[in-house]
Amino acid sequence: MTECLFCKMASGEIKPDVVFENEYLLAFRDINPRAPVHILIIPKQHVATLNDLEDATLAGKLLQIVPAIAKQQGIAPDGYRTVINCNSNGGQEVYHLHIHLLGGRKLSWPPG
Ligand code: 5GP
Ligand code: ZN
Repeated sequence: MTECLFCKMASGEIKPDVVFENEYLLAFRDINPRAPVHILIIPKQHVATLNDLEDATLAGKLLQIVPAIAKQQGIAPDGYRTVINCNSNGGQEVYHLHIHLLGGRKLSWPPG
């Protein structure tokens, strides 16, 4: 049995607020949103960090779904930001790869 929080979401053991799902991917609302739209997009299979992403097909699926979800959420025309935090310097807290999709307001740059 996995102890990984996002694996539990991928398997349905824990039910987040899902906005998109297919065979390979799950997208759900962040529990602590940093913007009016804050979605997390994960592969269903466990990949701990971006450093561990070796499957180019899966990488393509993850990236390709971003604009589709942005359009679904209505943030594509005004724009949005995607973030992947990796390991401690990147601020990663959950060690199951995820893309943050943030939108619905003007986001500042550079990040802290
Ligand atoms: P990280 O810092 O690893 O890039 O981001 C982890 C994200 O997961 C954070 O934005 C945090 O708010 C979110 N998160 C942590 N626990 C939960 C949870 O139980 N449910 C949901 N929906 N998001 C979570
Ligand atoms: Zn996992």
